[in-house]
Amino acid sequence: MIARKRILTGYRPTGKLHLGHWFGNLQNMLEMQQTYDAYYFIADWHALTSHWADPSDIRTYTEEMVLDWCAAGLDPDLCTIYRQSEFPQVAELALYFDMITPMAWLERVPSYKEQREQITDRDLGNVGFFLYPTLMAADIAILLADAVPVGEDQAPHLELTREIVRRFNNTYGEYLREPAAVIPKEGARVPGTDGRKMSKSYGNSIFISDPPEEIRTKVMSMLTDPARRLKTDPGDPDICPLQQIHKLISSDEEIARWDGCCRSAECGCVAHKRKLAEDLVAYLAEFQARRTLLAARPGYAWEVLEAGAAKARPVIDETIENCRRLVKLDSAG
Ligand code: SF4
Repeated sequence: MIARKRILTGYRPTGKLHLGHWFGNLQNMLEMQQTYDAYYFIADWHALTSHWADPSDIRTYTEEMVLDWCAAGLDPDLCTIYRQSEFPQVAELALYFDMITPMAWLERVPSYKEQREQITDRDLGNVGFFLYPTLMAADIAILLADAVPVGEDQAPHLELTREIVRRFNNTYGEYLREPAAVIPKEGARVPGTDGRKMSKSYGNSIFISDPPEEIRTKVMSMLTDPARRLKTDPGDPDICPLQQIHKLISSDEEIARWDGCCRSAECGCVAHKRKLAEDLVAYLAEFQARRTLLAARPGYAWEVLEAGAAKARPVIDETIENCRRLVKLDSAG
């Protein structure tokens, strides 16, 4: 039997999962657990790099993320789900990487500059945030991952990981694996309630764990075709954020029906919002029922993380021992 390739991806526990995650990353993660030896980790140290001043929610979001993942169909028997901070070995490898990585490599990471400029409500002038890429390289290298799924905007990060791994191997001896980039299937672009891309930081998200009443309230507040002021004005469903979400969850006939009656001004936006709200509640009902059951099992999320850590531990222990030996810091023997 040919061994499956090992793939790794991690998420920062800094918020709840929303529909944008559901139609993007989550569907890819479900697929990857079938075809790869898939490792999914909760990147809680990465969360701390930007949320160091108030880490009080990290633990809650960690639990919520595990519940969301498992209720959505990630199977802890098929994939490995663990928490980054469970393994000080990752921080140790990151430290070795910090020794060999020129500062200029980190300074030129495009997202570093961008985030320093764009995120103004938090202080990102800390060393931990600057060193984010070497910690990420360690996450990947410690598992000797073959592949990492990367969207376009993360490609420079993975290239940097590959450069760091090459430098480690050139300096201390060929050992660590250079991970290949896997381009995931492009997820749907999900608009938020204000029409911009759905994002926690814009405050425009519909969370997959939102109770039905909250889903209804959010959908009823959604932006529609801004040019359609009166019910008697014909609308343009192609530019309507509400219809974009409806397309993701309803049949072609249903979509065509709303499309037609919008253009002919036979139906109004309020009726369409009510319909989407009910369809969305029904669409998420099965997932939410499973999530409620899992959440009722005391300590379930932590059991999953513990079992995942037990699976990841042998690989991580072996990698760090070999790295220590290569940097001549192993104990005598
Ligand atoms: S009728 Fe529907 S598709 Fe048309 S603008 Fe209103 S909400 Fe959007």
